[in-house]
Amino acid sequence: MTGYTLMHEHTTIDLSGVKQDADCRLDCYEQTREEYRHLYELGVRRIVDVTNDGMGRNPEYIARMAQETGISIVQSTGFYKEPFLPERVYQQTVSKLADWMVSELCSGIQGGPRARMIGEIGTSKNCMTEMEQKVFQAAAITARETGAPIYTHTTLGTYALEQAEFFRAQGLPLDRIVLGHIDLSGDLDYIRRILDTGICIGFDTVGKNNYFPDEKRAEYLMELEREGRMGQIVLSEDLTRKSHLKEFGGIGYSYLFETFLPMLRAAGMKQESVDQMLIHNPARILGDA
Ligand SMILES: [Zn+2]
Repeated sequence: MTGYTLMHEHTTIDLSGVKQDADCRLDCYEQTREEYRHLYELGVRRIVDVTNDGMGRNPEYIARMAQETGISIVQSTGFYKEPFLPERVYQQTVSKLADWMVSELCSGIQGGPRARMIGEIGTSKNCMTEMEQKVFQAAAITARETGAPIYTHTTLGTYALEQAEFFRAQGLPLDRIVLGHIDLSGDLDYIRRILDTGICIGFDTVGKNNYFPDEKRAEYLMELEREGRMGQIVLSEDLTRKSHLKEFGGIGYSYLFETFLPMLRAAGMKQESVDQMLIHNPARILGDA
């Protein structure tokens, strides 16, 4: 697969029930299609959609979007984090939950295309609740059985070292597991300690300047480039709201290419490093032939 891959996006997502905010229902098909077509022109050929059961996942919507934009969209299996977990997580055993994930990876999601990613599975701020632990255990069993990669959610970058230790103890290949939202930790030394474990990380909230400024993201990435750590980093934006789309005043999916990459290049980042984060690391993580 040539072309860029965005590793953590949501084509459509609905967290509006729990969040009590209609903006958190992102279901603007036409606007998203226009933005994805623009991404194609910018060289994007694949998007990993990490929306899963409980987050308003819609496999038909995604399949149609892929077909109408030319961008290949990887679909995910799994469960997010509390309080967004569906009933089945509370009711079923770890082994049942694993069976369900395996079936989505091997036979397809609700009779549709197969999932190729386990994600985004999450932990809460500074902790992993009992139910979240159940999901992580089921994900580990599923990854061992199927060889599927894993993409996690950390809440503001917290509990990442513990997530890495969890996967290490499970004997999983850490170079095919991505810990999400690590840029939001805002702590470069902490980020180095995570990378020292051998696991991959997402600088996947690019453009969310209200959480953490892109100038700092760029500064950290430049430092990590100097340290030779680009083989473990992927980039994305994690758009989840209607107001994130261009038509509704947001940065849109293309911001990473049109604003952030120029920022990195101006700071002196090599194209080779950009390609590493947007092409080669995704290929390895997704297990491209
Ligand atoms: Zn996300």
